[in-house]
Parts: sequence; structure tokens; C-alpha cells
Amino acid sequence: MNNIYKDFGIDDKVCEFAENILKELKPRFDEIDRLADINQLKVIAAMQKNNVSEACMLGTTGYGYNDIGRETLEKVYADIFHTEDALVRAQITCGTHALALALMSNLRPGDELLSPVGKPYDTLEEVIGIRDSIGSLKEYGVSYRQVDLLEDGTFDYENIKKAINEKTKLVTIQRSKGYQTRPSFSVKQIGELIAFVKSIKPEVICMVDNCYGEFTEEIEPSDAGADMIVGSLIKNPGGGLAPLGGYICGKKECIENAAYRLTSPGLGKEVGASLTILRDFYQGLFLAPTVVASALKGAIFAANVYEKLGFDVIPNSTEDRHDIIQAVTFGDKDKMIAFCQGIQAASPVDSFVKPEPWAMPGYDSDVIMAAGAFISGSSIELSADGPVKEPYSVYFQGGLTFPHVKLGIIKSLQTLYERNLVKID
Ligand SMILES: *Cc1c(COP(=O)(O)O)cnc(C)c1O
Repeated sequence: MNNIYKDFGIDDKVCEFAENILKELKPRFDEIDRLADINQLKVIAAMQKNNVSEACMLGTTGYGYNDIGRETLEKVYADIFHTEDALVRAQITCGTHALALALMSNLRPGDELLSPVGKPYDTLEEVIGIRDSIGSLKEYGVSYRQVDLLEDGTFDYENIKKAINEKTKLVTIQRSKGYQTRPSFSVKQIGELIAFVKSIKPEVICMVDNCYGEFTEEIEPSDAGADMIVGSLIKNPGGGLAPLGGYICGKKECIENAAYRLTSPGLGKEVGASLTILRDFYQGLFLAPTVVASALKGAIFAANVYEKLGFDVIPNSTEDRHDIIQAVTFGDKDKMIAFCQGIQAASPVDSFVKPEPWAMPGYDSDVIMAAGAFISGSSIELSADGPVKEPYSVYFQGGLTFPHVKLGIIKSLQTLYERNLVKID
């Protein structure tokens, strides 16, 4: 076993340390395989039910009228997530665009948007107008309210109740912690929050930012009362094959609003040529449950390796998972950089590149990013990044196959080890 890793410059000691941890993880990995079974069969059943055929892979040009592949794919998504309808398009450029589309199409001037789970994902600050920005919801007269989580990471029901008023039209709930240190929410927790919101104001639209959460549990937020779920195809549901795109699944009316906003009033879902993208969308969706399982195993492996070495990890080595993100806090610049360089060195693409901290626009400190991906910016592929400042936390996610994530983590550990940044006994 060690011989194949020797070729990658891994010391026996590092290898043994990793293998010993892996042995203990067998029961956890069995659980994840069971989860992959459930979600894989869910996807296959939806494809069979909707008669996905060879013709569905072909795609259209021009206006894209009567695009059977596109229409069928949207039915497949709706069935997997148990929603009335879905919008799954290459014309949705990324996750932020999908979220902006869902918000802007379902909110009108005078309405209020509420986030009961604290600050939303960074890029949404400009969509909402928390940071002033051209074309924000704020500019269009949509106000925003936020209720922060309680100290222990739970929902502040008392203040959520106070924040819901006659203007509250839409509630946005982010499932994954993203690049924060709060815990990610389980679907069950999200369901409880939605039930609470609806008990106060039944007609409010509950939207869930589902990025990084798809297929990490047996059920999705749409099974727990969400009116809309939104995500990116270069994360979980694209299975690593979708080269771009986003989705919105939900109530018929919500999806109709989104479609009229994406294309044009009157046209809605009827247009939007799929060109040659559909095969990747279908095949990626088919692979997604096992790809997500690999990413989950990788995250759990990383948590166990780095916790054992004394670093803070979120989630910790034994916690349940509700997304694919693993945070490791190194508390030291050199360790953080070594970790990222190790991940990069294990990549199939750009393995010869050495990531260094740089002043990325929009951040108040240098940022380091490791990614050697087939799809640019894809974070369902193995990737790691973080702001180079206290507490020197790295956010690690993805991995299309477990052997690759395993190599990435072992290589990261090797890099720390050979620079005398960790001791392995
Ligand atoms: C990635 C992500 C987004 C934004 O998606 P992009 O594709 O990067 O625009 C929004 N919310 C969460 C929780 C995310 O993880």
C-alpha cells in the first residue's frame, strides 16, 4: 500500500498515521455508502419515471422551443426534490445568480426580506444591498431584516417572531455555513424553523440556499417545508461534470416568477436553448450522489486527521454532516499555506502550481486558494481556501473520487510534516 504513496513523496510515518485513522472510520463510511445508495436510487427513479431517453441528451439551438431534454431534466429535478416545478439552466450562471434570480423575481417593491439565520453568504450582500450596489434589491425598494443566531448557534425564535411583520414576503435560510464558523443546519432544523415562520405568517415564501447541501442527507429542505431551494451546478448536483449552471426548485408560482425574470415576461420557461450541455447535466446529476459521498468521506477523514493532531475542526471528527465543507483552524500562517500547497500538489490538473496568498478583490486580507480542477472554480472538485489572517482557518471541500481526496489530505499532512510544522508519533 505504502509503495504507491512513496511515488508521491509520502513518508511511511505519514502513511501509517493516515491508514490507522481510516481503519477507525469504516463504520462512518458504511453509513455514507448507505446514504449514497438512497440518493442514487432517488435519482435513477426520477430519471426512469420521466422516460429520460437518448434524445434528451441532444439539445437545441436558437430560441430553444420544445427542448425535450431541458423540459425532462427540469421534471427530473422536481421529482428528486419533491417540488411542483424546477428551473435548471445553463443561462443561470452560478449560485449567486440563481439566488439573486429567486429573490428578485419573487419580491416586489415594498416587500421585506428576512434572514433569520444571521448574515447571508458574502456575495448576497450586494444582491440584497447590505453593501450598496447597483441593481440591488434595496435599490428597487425591497427592505431587509436580519436576526442573528444565538451564541450557541441556534435560532433566536423570540426575535424572529418580532422581525416578521406585514411587509415580510420572503424568508431566506442558508443551509451551509459557507465560510463562517457557525454550524451548518440539518434539514430537520430547517424544517422546524420554517414551521415556526409559517405559524406566524403562513403565506410567507421560505427559500433555502441549498449550496453544498444537496445529497448530504436522505431528505432535502423541500421535503421539510421549503417553498424554494436554490443551488449551483458546479457544486453538488452537477456531480463534477456540469461545467456551469444553477437551479431553482419549488412551488409552481415561485418557479414561474423566476422563469419570467430569467428570460422575459411572456416567454418564461419556453425559451433557453440547451446547446450541447444536457448530457453533462444528466450524467453529472446521475453521478452526484456518489461524488457527494466521496466528498463527505474526505471531509470526515480530514476532520479526524487534523483533530488528532490538535487542531480545531468544524464539524468535529464525530459530528453528523449537513454539507461537504470542512473547516480546519491552523492558528498559524505557515501551516495554513503548507496545507493548501499539499492539496494542490495532489491535483490531477495544475499539480505543478504552488498556491501563494494574494490580495483578492473584495477581501480585507490576503487569500490563499488551492484547486486543481477540470472545471474552473468548481468546488465539488477538491479545493481549499481561506483568508490569510487570524485564526488562519482553511475551508476544504469536494473531491470527485475518494482516492483523490485521500491523497490530497495525506499530501497536505506530508507537506506540514516535512516542514516541521506538525509532529507525528
Ligand atoms: C457557493 C455558495 C453561494 C454562491 O455560489 P457561487 O456559485 O459561488 O456564486 C451561495 N451560498 C452558499 C452557501 C454557497 O456555498
